Amino acid sequence: MAINIDWEHMTENSLDEELFCPICADPFEEPVCANQCGHTFCRRCIINTFRITSQCPACRHTLTIDDFHPVTTRPFLNQLNKILVKCKWCSQSNIQRGDFKDHIKTCTKIIISCPAANINCDWKGQPDQMQDHAEVCPLVKIQPTIVKLKTKVKQQSKQIHFLYTILKKISENHKEECEEVYTKNGIIYCDVCEKEFTIYEHDEWLHFCPEADICCNCVKKHFS
Ligand SMILES: [Zn+2]
Ligand SMILES: [Zn+2]
Ligand SMILES: [Zn+2]
Ligand SMILES: [Zn+2]
Ligand SMILES: [Zn+2]
Ligand SMILES: [Zn+2]
Repeated sequence: MAINIDWEHMTENSLDEELFCPICADPFEEPVCANQCGHTFCRRCIINTFRITSQCPACRHTLTIDDFHPVTTRPFLNQLNKILVKCKWCSQSNIQRGDFKDHIKTCTKIIISCPAANINCDWKGQPDQMQDHAEVCPLVKIQPTIVKLKTKVKQQSKQIHFLYTILKKISENHKEECEEVYTKNGIIYCDVCEKEFTIYEHDEWLHFCPEADICCNCVKKHFS
């Protein structure tokens, strides 16, 4: 059975059988459909299944996760949205599944994490206790600084990756190869954005670094 941590179904017995996922035997959550065979499953169920196999669980057709698209048929989704559920936190019942997102925003019994959970505050509590915690939580205070540093590190590792691309080209003794390709095809492609660029741009870049096929736009983007 699919375990939803927030709600449980109330009315499964009276539901149309086409609303049930053959993997978890519960009504579909985020149904996805295979392009080739048309079989439908919950998104989460099929992701789990494809960790261990590459066959459709219903018909054994060979598939990958990319062969599935989200089901968008309105009447079908509407039926799923109308299924009644009960909130596991506050026990309120008869909530339509489609409205559950709104319920959870106002549910007073749900256990939520500290806003600084992503930097390892492990406080958990109900929404009305959150304000008190946030005022004393040291991690909430330093969170903006850490986020800034993380962004910086990410940018720098991108630049390192970009430099690495250039160095790799140089070490592969790319120059002759490139000139050969250019005289043969008359076209140069940027190694980073894969767009075609002109001989003029290429020459300009050659002036700075004779061995890399990287267009000015990419260089500007990475070092501005
Ligand atoms: Zn399922
Ligand atoms: Zn199938
Ligand atoms: Zn609730
Ligand atoms: Zn905290
Ligand atoms: Zn480029
Ligand atoms: Zn070149």
